[in-house]
Amino acid sequence: MASSRGDNRNRPRGKCGAAANGRRKKSCGINPPEPCDRPAHACSKPARLSDPALPGAAAEALEYFGKMIDNCLSRAEAAKKQGKPVVGIMCEYTPRELILAAGGLPVCLCGGSNETIRSAEEILPANLCPLIKSTFGYHVQRSNPFLEMADLLVAETTCDGKKKMYELMAKDRPMHVLELPQKQDSPEARQLWRAEVRKLKEHIEGRFRVRITDQRIREAADVMNRERSLRRSLAGLMKADNPPITGRQLLQFKSSISGFGEDMEWYSRALDSLRSASAASPGRKKVRVLLTGVPVVHGAERVIDIIENSGGLIVCMENCTGIKPISEDMILDDAADPLDAMADYYFRLPCSVQTVNNRRLELLRRLAGEYRPQCVIELIWQACLTYDVEAATVKRFVTQELRLPYLRIGTDYSPGDSARITVRVEAIFESATAGGKAAAPIS
Ligand code: SF4
Ligand code: SF4
Repeated sequence: MASSRGDNRNRPRGKCGAAANGRRKKSCGINPPEPCDRPAHACSKPARLSDPALPGAAAEALEYFGKMIDNCLSRAEAAKKQGKPVVGIMCEYTPRELILAAGGLPVCLCGGSNETIRSAEEILPANLCPLIKSTFGYHVQRSNPFLEMADLLVAETTCDGKKKMYELMAKDRPMHVLELPQKQDSPEARQLWRAEVRKLKEHIEGRFRVRITDQRIREAADVMNRERSLRRSLAGLMKADNPPITGRQLLQFKSSISGFGEDMEWYSRALDSLRSASAASPGRKKVRVLLTGVPVVHGAERVIDIIENSGGLIVCMENCTGIKPISEDMILDDAADPLDAMADYYFRLPCSVQTVNNRRLELLRRLAGEYRPQCVIELIWQACLTYDVEAATVKRFVTQELRLPYLRIGTDYSPGDSARITVRVEAIFESATAGGKAAAPIS
């Protein structure tokens, strides 16, 4: 992979065809929905995100977050002009606060598009997680403007596929790799992780010639806590008997770049208007679903659409694009060393790359109590071994302890199996409403 920096013919381009650092003529297509690829099956249709029944401010907020990629691109371009660093991240273990404290923009680069996978497969094995392939495909195509303008990538040793993909990416791009220990309850592992977070801080300070003080870390934590709290409150609306929005709409309330005041204003306005709408909302006779498993990144929402077009309502997403990384605030007030406290906060994240990952079951137990799902659906991206193997533990926990029907859906970003998934989703909904047994897993 030859670097093309400085060569105008190869300047990074978004799907809109505009150079990443040039003017954009129309909406940029990072992780776009792919209507042309979709089969005719009605249940796989992309969900309609607007809803005439929604109160005005909530509808406006949905529309605002519908332009999230363009909004983020404008911000990143403005930040670059001001000399602020853009830092790409690809995992929820990466402390965004350190990037914010350095005056930078933390941008999520996880790929959710099926369109970039073919390019990735020219180098990577086909039997690999689509999230990894999609992210890498953007790298090969140089088609993600955020990736092209990133001054640094912060990678991490989580799953094997990502870890080895990062090695290939690092040949062309500046990258710092966080070594993530994988025994959360080990004191030695915690010390190693604290040292890794400290090394990241030093790397950012050196690269961008800034000093990250304790005060700036605390301020960044306050910003992120506000964002986490607002998004958690929005998610909490789904606890109602008649939630005012769908799970797909809830997923829309997010941003690829964290910490922007304008986003928070819109979260807040949506929350205020939906709180008042919640009580008056007409009852939706849908099957309440708790979704667990892999992250559902922007552009990869097909299974969510299938579930909600088949009579379900996803009242809770336990995964990394749902409640998992925002379930608690980072409390640094009494911390002797805020950097260590920040590291400890992130190290508690219950990802399947950890062994053993009992915190995930604790989180599922709590969420099941709060959101009262009628069934649990686990989404596993193809070749995601850690989540897939852990699915056996989750299934046992869900069926034996929570006493709920459980369905495992193994798939990738291509739409070919949508009809098959729909049939299985409809079957588990029948089980859930009849109080019967779990549907058999599919793969
Ligand atoms: S699922 Fe695990 S590896 Fe993936 S983003 Fe979340 S914490 Fe990172
Ligand atoms: S979904 Fe699984 S395989 Fe894919 S990047 Fe995340 S942890 Fe790795």
